[in-house]
Amino acid sequence: MCGIVGAVSQRNVVPILIEGLLKLEYRGYDSAGIAILNGDLKRVRSVGRVADLRKKTDEAGSDAVTGIAHTRWATHGLVTEDNAHPHASLGGDHQICVVHNGIIENHVPLRERLRGQGYVFTSETDTEVVAHLVHSYVSELEGAYAVAVISREEPNTVVGSRKGSPLLLGVGNEGSGENFLASDTSALLQVTRHVAYLEEGDVVEIRTDGYRIIDADDQPVTRPIIESQLSADAVELGNYDHYMQKETFEQPGAIANTLEMVINAKTLSAGLFGAEAEAIFSRSKRILILACGTSFHAAMVAKYWLESIAAIPTNVEIASEYRYRDSVAEPDTLLVTVSQSGETADTLAALAHAK
Ligand code: GLU
Repeated sequence: MCGIVGAVSQRNVVPILIEGLLKLEYRGYDSAGIAILNGDLKRVRSVGRVADLRKKTDEAGSDAVTGIAHTRWATHGLVTEDNAHPHASLGGDHQICVVHNGIIENHVPLRERLRGQGYVFTSETDTEVVAHLVHSYVSELEGAYAVAVISREEPNTVVGSRKGSPLLLGVGNEGSGENFLASDTSALLQVTRHVAYLEEGDVVEIRTDGYRIIDADDQPVTRPIIESQLSADAVELGNYDHYMQKETFEQPGAIANTLEMVINAKTLSAGLFGAEAEAIFSRSKRILILACGTSFHAAMVAKYWLESIAAIPTNVEIASEYRYRDSVAEPDTLLVTVSQSGETADTLAALAHAK
C-alpha cells in the first residue's frame, strides 16, 4: 500500500510533505524519503519511521517550494536507505527523481537495456528503472504504478501518473498558488479538501499556477473536483499504540456500519450485491475466494461459513499465487476477491487474471 505525496507551492513544502507522510502511516511502510528541488535536486531518505526522516530533514535545514515524498513497502530489494525512494536518474544534462508505489513487472529487461544505454543503477529496486526510463522514454512500463516525478530541468512542477495504484490531485485553495498530489485525501486535509481522483493511465502535471490532466490516450481531460467530507481524525492514531490495534478495536463499529444497509433494507437479498447478483448467485456451483495476508485469513473463516450455511463448495487461494500460476478454470464458479484496502496490487491483478 504505502504512500506518495507531492507539492508545488510558493512556501516551503517540506513540512507539508512530512505531515502528509505521517497521515499515510496507517497504510504501513518500512522506510521513507523525500526529494526537493532547490536549484539542484536533494534527497533525504531513511529506514524506519517518518519521525526519523523528519529529524534528518530538520537537521539538513531542508527548504524548497517543490517536492515529492514516499513511504515504501519493499517488494523488490531489501529495506535499506539505498533502496528507499525517491530514486534518481542523474546525468550531466539531467536530474530526475521519482517515487513509485506498486510493482513494475518488466523491470529486469528494462534494467538490462538501460544499463546497455549507459545508465548506472545504485539500488536493487524495480523503481530505479522508472527514474531512468522517465529520462529515456516513459510509456513502456508494464505493471502497477502510481509515480510522482520532479526534474531540475522543470522547476516548480511535479508530474504524476497512475495505473493500478491510487493517486489523486489536490487543488490548492483559491489564491494560494499551490497544488498537490497524494495517495489519498487524508494526506492533504492539512492543505485542501478539494480533490480529483485520477483514472487509469492519467498523467497529471501540477504547477503553482494550475494543473492539467492527460488521459491514457494522450487527450487533455477534466476530472471532477469533489469536496472531501473525510474527517481529519479518521486516520488519527488517537489513544492507540499502533494502527493494527486501532483497526482491531474498530471492528465492531466497522461491521455495524457495513450491516447498516442490510438492517435498513430489513431483509438480506441478493440485490444488495448489485442488480445482476441474484442471477449470478443462483448459477454459482462453487466459490473461489482470492485474497492476501489478513484478508486471506478472513476468507478462510468465510469458507467455513459458506460451506456450513450455504452448502456451496468454497476454495480460498492466495491471490499472488493464483495470478502467477497456471490454474484450471471451472465454469459456474463465483469469484470473490477480498482486500482490506481495496488496493492490494496482487489481488487486483488476480481479479484481472481471472476475468
Ligand atoms: N516496488 C517498489 C519497491 O520495492 C515500490 C514499493 C511500494 O509500493 O512502496 O521499492
